[in-house]
Amino acid sequence: MHQHLDDLFALLRIPSVSTDPARRDDLRRCAAWLAAKFTALGLTAEVHQTPGHPIVSARNRRVAGRRTVLIYGHYDVQPADPLALWRGDPFVPTLSDSGVITARGATDNKGQILAHILGAGETIAADGDLPLNVIFLVEGEEEIGSPHLAEFLRRQRAELACDVVAVSDTGMIEPGRGTLTYGLRGIACLEVAVSGPDKDLHSGIFGGAVANPLTALARLLATLHDADGRVAIRGFYDGVAPLAQWERAAWAALPVTDAELLRLAGASALAPEPGYRGVECAWGRPTAELNGLYGGYQGEGSKTVIPADAHAKLSFRLVPGQEPEKILSLAAAHLRNHCPPGVTLTVTPGHAGAAYLLDPATPCAQAARRALALAFPGKEPALVREGGSIPIVSDFKKILGADTLLLGLALPDARIHSPNETFTVENFEAGIRLNQILLHELAR
Ligand SMILES: [Zn+2]
Repeated sequence: MHQHLDDLFALLRIPSVSTDPARRDDLRRCAAWLAAKFTALGLTAEVHQTPGHPIVSARNRRVAGRRTVLIYGHYDVQPADPLALWRGDPFVPTLSDSGVITARGATDNKGQILAHILGAGETIAADGDLPLNVIFLVEGEEEIGSPHLAEFLRRQRAELACDVVAVSDTGMIEPGRGTLTYGLRGIACLEVAVSGPDKDLHSGIFGGAVANPLTALARLLATLHDADGRVAIRGFYDGVAPLAQWERAAWAALPVTDAELLRLAGASALAPEPGYRGVECAWGRPTAELNGLYGGYQGEGSKTVIPADAHAKLSFRLVPGQEPEKILSLAAAHLRNHCPPGVTLTVTPGHAGAAYLLDPATPCAQAARRALALAFPGKEPALVREGGSIPIVSDFKKILGADTLLLGLALPDARIHSPNETFTVENFEAGIRLNQILLHELAR
């Protein structure tokens, strides 16, 4: 473990902030560090240049007839800002007496991907090889939306052909309990603009005679939900896969109660869809969200004006059975049909990605559940979905045709993306163990 922790600390000391152009060389250094580590462990490593930051791949000897697993992770990190809130330098990792490592990237994702890499190294040291064909793929642009990964997957489709993908970049439901994330929500974004007069008008001279774009937009947006908070776009729920009885029961036994959700949200009350618990809404039901709304006078005091235009930013969280492109066109049609008279509506679709659902009963998922049970002994692994979206997971399915096992090691209080990000030595060790067991279970 001393050697493993030295490796992790060396990796954490490289400030590989992908969004910061000034860190470009640090990302190269980080990619080179990983390639050297892979090579030292007995794998064949390659650094692939992209128009952005490099992608590192590594593999053992490909043996025909063996299964192939692709293990994905990322070596880039979020900016450390705001620096003033850190207890120390975010890129000088510290280890507390209770076994907590603090540094930017400790959990997301350096600690998790390095645990997989070192686990593979342990197996090679013990057995001379890994029990199946393994491809590591570690990118440097996850935190900026993986702009060059899909193209790389397409170009290298033959070299990256695999039966299943394993990723540790999701959360654990509680300490000491292995967690398989078997579903993610999809997303579809759009922007709405309503324009009226060709300039801001005096509301005393024109008010009442001319439609007010802000009022029109408010009326329009109010038609998106019914009185119970359900999405009122016709066809929105068509094809939505209902929550299975087993998963509603399984989630009810997890420590994600409505009271806990309320505590985490810091809101005055939850407002779930009728008939569902909070966690069921967040993990398994689709939504229409208003993310931004602007127009008119924003300065101090009042200004009696009819604004020339008004704007809103919307996103939809989608569940299995919903097609992002279809949802965008249904939403655009709804907005056109409900737009009040006297204004001009423009709807601009944004990025979109499908939801993901893996049947936890498939052989690969069962192998992952056995590995989680053995890596975190004493507690039955939790089966969860997450409400967010991980676009690369649908890329793996679309381009490589492979399902993804999401075996996250992030604890609820790991403060990923926030000041004082942590990773525990306990989870680092468990992650190393998890990789060793997972590869054997997948080979079986
Ligand atoms: Zn992240």
